[in-house]
Amino acid sequence: MGNGAKAAQKRERNADKNAPKGSKSQAKVNEAAKSIVCATCKQSFLITTRAPALEEHSSNKHSKTMAECFPTFAK
Ligand SMILES: [Zn+2]
Repeated sequence: MGNGAKAAQKRERNADKNAPKGSKSQAKVNEAAKSIVCATCKQSFLITTRAPALEEHSSNKHSKTMAECFPTFAK
């Protein structure tokens, strides 16, 4: 029983220690996943934005193709 409590405490401490580093890189990942950025005007779109909407932005705003404005998305 004593050992169990100690182990739990240790785990907690480790989690604490790892939290700032882990959450920071996780936030970075989340940020990257959050947006699709237009290469032409740098406007960002939610990652959930569908291709037709991006295509519309590309052609309406820039008279370009989606691949030109969103090369990362088109891949
Ligand atoms: Zn744009």
